[in-house]
Amino acid sequence: MAKIPVGILGATGMVGQNYIALLDNHPWFEVNYVAASPRSAGKKYKDAVAGGRQLVKTWRPSVGELVIEDANDTGRAVTAANAGQLAFVFSALEMGKDEIRSLEDSYAAAGIPVISNASAHRWTEDVPVLIAEVNPHHTDIIPLQKKARGWEHGFIAVKPNCSIQSYTTPLWALMQKGYEIRRLIVSTMQAVSGAGYPGVPSIDMIDNIVPYIGGEEEKSEREPLKIFGAIENGVIKNAELPRISAHCSRVPVTDGHTACVSLEFGVKKPSLEEIKRIWSEFRSIPQELELPTAPKQPIIIREEPDRPQPRKDRDADKAMAVSVGRIRACNVFDLRFTGLSHNTVRGAAGGGILNAELLKVKGYL
Ligand code: NAP
Repeated sequence: MAKIPVGILGATGMVGQNYIALLDNHPWFEVNYVAASPRSAGKKYKDAVAGGRQLVKTWRPSVGELVIEDANDTGRAVTAANAGQLAFVFSALEMGKDEIRSLEDSYAAAGIPVISNASAHRWTEDVPVLIAEVNPHHTDIIPLQKKARGWEHGFIAVKPNCSIQSYTTPLWALMQKGYEIRRLIVSTMQAVSGAGYPGVPSIDMIDNIVPYIGGEEEKSEREPLKIFGAIENGVIKNAELPRISAHCSRVPVTDGHTACVSLEFGVKKPSLEEIKRIWSEFRSIPQELELPTAPKQPIIIREEPDRPQPRKDRDADKAMAVSVGRIRACNVFDLRFTGLSHNTVRGAAGGGILNAELLKVKGYL
């Protein structure tokens, strides 16, 4: 079977380079179109990301030879699409939110589906924010989105912030079993790669912790509610619970976002044994469909008292699994645990690829 030609907007950045690396030898998709800022446009990919700008170990030599397009030039993408060289794009752009929103809209309006990592469209009511294991049913909004905008072929689907699957997936597994979660306090310790390249100055990060990441606490508190929400009257209506309070800090770790959680259940409260059983048995649509990028076990329990740790656990199951440990009772709420996942893989490029695999199997791509 011929592979589907895909493009990457923001191909030279932290997330874009992870897309290039993860799509090397992908069974369904092949990178055929790379785009970035006008600064990189016209250069061969291998030259634009040479030296210190190379953030991943390897990429396919043929991708290195691709000439970078200007991501703002949708006309070039349309020409490639019309020639059968581009079926859809992954968006990993870092620009102003309004600029990203209007650029992603123009790709979709031109008939090119956009699978995005950017936050620009996460609050657009008819755009699904997908964690493939948690809300695969939100893909049902896509026909309504297309109809509302008069888009025949294009659409926009996004993935959430890079840290929230570390706690949202475990929460969902419990909610699925009928356990209401009312309140939650989460403290995230987020890796430097989450800030893109070149990111936070090293002088701020070495021997230090920065207890502020602009906009991150709001995303950590609100995005799970959209993901847990339901489609009603052509939009995604947010869930009301749990109420979430987040503290987000940047820590001197290269990859892997950690989340320490305390939560309160509703009337029905599971035992610690029941919680562990639910998490270790949790499987969802990506596992049933055996999607190529899906982890076999989405939630891996670490029983050691000092795990999960970024260096030891971020690469679990192709860096696509969430590792959970320190599962214990809470003196203030009901339950405490620590979740960890790889931010540039599960939380960015890997999560985007898994969403695209889901959308392909469902017939949207
Ligand atoms: P990054 O390393 O700064 O890369 C940004 C990319 O955007 C580069 O390819 C850059 O091209 C391109 N770009 C910048 N200005 C542009 C312009 N005016 N026109 C067209 N392209 C432009 O950022 P990143 O960390 O990869 O993040 C990319 C997106 O993913 C962001 O929206 C971010 O919020 C989101 N995200 C990041 C992570 C993570 O862990 N890093 C996780 C989840 C989501 P040049 O190289 O030519 O400048």
